[in-house]
Amino acid sequence: MPARMRRNTSARNPRLKTMPHIAKIVVDLPVAGPFDYHIPKNLQADIKVGSRVYVPFHTRYRIGCVVGFKAKSSFRRLKPVLATLDAQPIFSEETMKFTKEFAESYGCSWGEAMMMTLPKALRKKKATSLTLGGAPKAMAQKAAEMIFCQGVSGEQSWSLIIRRITETLNNDQGVIVLVPEVAMMTGVGQVLEQNFPKAICLLGKETSEREELERWQLIREGKTRLVLGTRSAIFAPVMNLGLLVICEEENPAFKQEQTPFYHVRDVALMRRKIEKAAILFVSAAPTAELWSLLQKAKIKAEIFAENNLVPLQVIDMTNYKLREKTAISVPLQNALTETLVRGGRSLLLLNRRGFGTITHCSNCGFVMTCEKCGVNLTFLFSRKQLTCRLCNAEREIPSICPSCTKSYLRSEGVGIEKMESELSRIFPQAQVVRFDRESRDIPKQANIVIATQAVKRLRDQLAFDMIGVLDFDAQLNRSDFRSTQQAFSWLIQFRQMAREKVFVQTRLPDNYCLQTAIGPDFQRFYDTELKFRRELGFPPFRHLINIGVRGPKEELVFEQAQVLFERLQQAKINEVDFAEPQADTPAKLRGKYRFVIVLKGKSVKQTLRSIQPVLSSSPRKSGMVITVHVDP
Ligand SMILES: [Zn+2]
Ligand SMILES: [Zn+2]
Repeated sequence: MPARMRRNTSARNPRLKTMPHIAKIVVDLPVAGPFDYHIPKNLQADIKVGSRVYVPFHTRYRIGCVVGFKAKSSFRRLKPVLATLDAQPIFSEETMKFTKEFAESYGCSWGEAMMMTLPKALRKKKATSLTLGGAPKAMAQKAAEMIFCQGVSGEQSWSLIIRRITETLNNDQGVIVLVPEVAMMTGVGQVLEQNFPKAICLLGKETSEREELERWQLIREGKTRLVLGTRSAIFAPVMNLGLLVICEEENPAFKQEQTPFYHVRDVALMRRKIEKAAILFVSAAPTAELWSLLQKAKIKAEIFAENNLVPLQVIDMTNYKLREKTAISVPLQNALTETLVRGGRSLLLLNRRGFGTITHCSNCGFVMTCEKCGVNLTFLFSRKQLTCRLCNAEREIPSICPSCTKSYLRSEGVGIEKMESELSRIFPQAQVVRFDRESRDIPKQANIVIATQAVKRLRDQLAFDMIGVLDFDAQLNRSDFRSTQQAFSWLIQFRQMAREKVFVQTRLPDNYCLQTAIGPDFQRFYDTELKFRRELGFPPFRHLINIGVRGPKEELVFEQAQVLFERLQQAKINEVDFAEPQADTPAKLRGKYRFVIVLKGKSVKQTLRSIQPVLSSSPRKSGMVITVHVDP
């Protein structure tokens, strides 16, 4: 952010407020600001801080947001504000502070951050006439405490959540409840509706732009005080915010995977600080980042969930020599048989869609890959199609090898479709069903369900006696530094979901993730995990900032990354380490080649401040997209 933006933002000088001449305006573009605009006489009475205006910007017209006024500008000829769009400010003072903080923490512009909090209809040139209530009556003292409830949607957790929401609403304060996935909104929504039938507003399930606007308006006007939603509901303009509830904090869906790449936990902590709201985290096994924060703040969990966990049995796969097709060990097969005999239900997890994971020619070795992403295509037996796991593109399977035209193509590797037929063969008396991200629900009569991780979105409906994880090592071995913690969290979740027992097949039985999950010994798991993170310089100890470059031509993308790298070297940034550009994972996606420069620094804001001048002054080749990703 430029220095002039930081210096003076409130600008609520009463003399100026009556007769403002120059407005400081930010726009929805990745450019710094604010920019000075002249306020014509006819608009002087209407223009307000926190309102949208229509302004000329370069050669076009744009929606801008007024962030302050000033008496003098260092620029001589200012362009005029063309129109005011809001009779009342649509951004509250808190939202303005919070979006500024957001922009400085995620490397976007203040204008982009402000626009992001608005419903789609208000990002366009649409006028509003809000009826904002007066100051909230009897402002209760805000506690801004942090609470951690270790559990899932158990009764104890719910009674704590309901009690806190009731207290907050009774104090005339607002509440935001966040769930990671839309599928969870139904269950959580029902509980909230039973308890607060008149107060609640659901965000993220709108059918139209108009409906989205109507709901946003109800919240902004303070007519609705309780909001339930997924990720983006963290931006809901709840008035006098008193409590934030974050359910299943460990769920990776809380991370926005496109620019601006934010994490709901961190944004919630930002709002908590500015609006002095309390925050309640609910999680079976939280992220290492949250655990570390709770330890630092000396916050203990309210409810311990260990009591309702079923046993976990680790099956050391190095003891079993399996036939190529079978991915099921003897102990697991025995457990499946027992469960079946008793009339119980089993869930097996294998996070690979389709039938085979690689399709190749046995004559010349040619492998079918996605033209746009370069990865092996997955064979979907049921549709006789090949599909890309990255971009989801589908194509026909050629009848003969397109390379040598001499042989047929064969699929290898075990996907859930292959497991489904294998299970039907081993258990001919059972009804075997498969579940992946395209499935809707699980038939009631199913005895054995073979599923990808997509099944977790049905967690409220999952009533299984036993759960078996077939490819645990694939999760553990992912290149992401968060993979171990996610694997640990899943094991704890599965142990809460199953009625009797959880089995894990692994070739890494001594890994600390499995060893500590058996107890479970939460303290030991997080201590070990955080020790590794500290040694390797990963969050929460140091922060990663990825500068991503992508474009259609590989050489040009690499050259662009190299230019940025050299500029960063010349800039001599203190206390920030960075390595040469490397291919990103995936290296190619949807026809775009991707390179990344990984920076590590102690402070996110400071690192962003030092790299931003480099990014904005470096020459750009055409067709390049450059992104900044904090703590990927
Ligand atoms: Zn061939
Ligand atoms: Zn693809």
